[in-house]
Amino acid sequence: MPSLPVGPSRRDFIRLVATGSAALAGGNLLWSQAGPAPKEKLGVALLGLGKYSAGQLGPALKETKHCQLTGVITGVREKGEKWAMDYGFPRENIYSYETMDKIANNPAIDIVYVVTPPGLHREFVERVAKAGKHVITEKPMATSVEDCQAMIDICKARKVRLSVGYRLHFDLYHRELVRLARSKEFGAFTKLTGKRAFVMQKHAWRIEKKLGGGGPIMDLGIYLIQGACMATQETPVSVLAREEPKKKPDLFNEVEESMRWSMNFPGGAVADFFTSFNDNGDQFRAEAPRGWFELTEHAFTYRGMKGATSKGPMTFEAINQQAAQMDDFAECVKTGRETPVPGEMGLRDIRITTAIYESARTGKVVNV
Ligand code: NAD
Repeated sequence: MPSLPVGPSRRDFIRLVATGSAALAGGNLLWSQAGPAPKEKLGVALLGLGKYSAGQLGPALKETKHCQLTGVITGVREKGEKWAMDYGFPRENIYSYETMDKIANNPAIDIVYVVTPPGLHREFVERVAKAGKHVITEKPMATSVEDCQAMIDICKARKVRLSVGYRLHFDLYHRELVRLARSKEFGAFTKLTGKRAFVMQKHAWRIEKKLGGGGPIMDLGIYLIQGACMATQETPVSVLAREEPKKKPDLFNEVEESMRWSMNFPGGAVADFFTSFNDNGDQFRAEAPRGWFELTEHAFTYRGMKGATSKGPMTFEAINQQAAQMDDFAECVKTGRETPVPGEMGLRDIRITTAIYESARTGKVVNV
């Protein structure tokens, strides 16, 4: 039987009623009548214990205020045992990909975070939703528009919340970009440029079409797309893309090695971007009539971000983006508030990457 939806705290509930937003709490009313006391921290299970889980998400869950790590889903039992020891959750909360559907009966787990290659996101999100748990899926959301839509649909049908791991929406530098975009302090951003690239040394799922959905566009280009949509507060209407000639055709035999593309936005903004698995770079710049915003180093990474605006250097605190992202989602689940990074945003971005690939293939401008 699926676990009960997690309700708002009693104080939050009174506030929701007082502000007339009780409807937001929706199906959570059940909780207020009976059942267990509200949890202060929701339980998160990480699905896929690869580099991102081990290096970032696990450690971030030690810093979160609204959620904590209470389980894992892994193909390697011994790995799960080590995580249970390190993070102090019971061994019963270690699941395999075969047994994970039983998570439905585990009230210690409220949210499952899918951290596998993108080609597997749909299958896992569907299983999590069927188990009645809320779900975060890593970026890119999936490898096709159809898969993204199916993920949104099943989460709606099962009344669970769905979010994409777009951590930069919680980063203070990127929030400043959004603030400037919304306030139009410099006017609207109309010219966007950027690069995101690293040198892939050896074969990895990121260059397998089935698992990665494509090459650097899917893994890295998606950050530039996100940056442009944040700067314009719009979705592009059309794209024009060109795949660069391959220097290592044997390695990149299924996907692009590098891609150059432009995007046109409804308000007139134009973005020119480059991404590659055989180059280096992590920069972003947005120009407006009366000023500019620029990230010169680690524009889309979690550490070492540097940047300035036309008013001077930016010196924001380097927060733990992953902790902020997971805490925000846990709060959304608790209160019924909408997440700023929903499945629909992940779907929008896959529509854009799909248009980029079509443009690169046909040489024509493609409408999004
Ligand atoms: P990884 O290869 O290090 O880990 C992938 C995990 O998936 C492993 O535990 C692996 O065992 C598991 N897995 C299950 N079935 C698999 C299969 N059939 N083939 C391959 N692996 C399988 O990758 P990662 O770097 O941890 O990336 C995982 C996800 O996280 C991807 O969607 C990636 O784009 C995303 N990611 C996001 C960020 C970010 O900043 N938001 C950073 C890194 C990775």
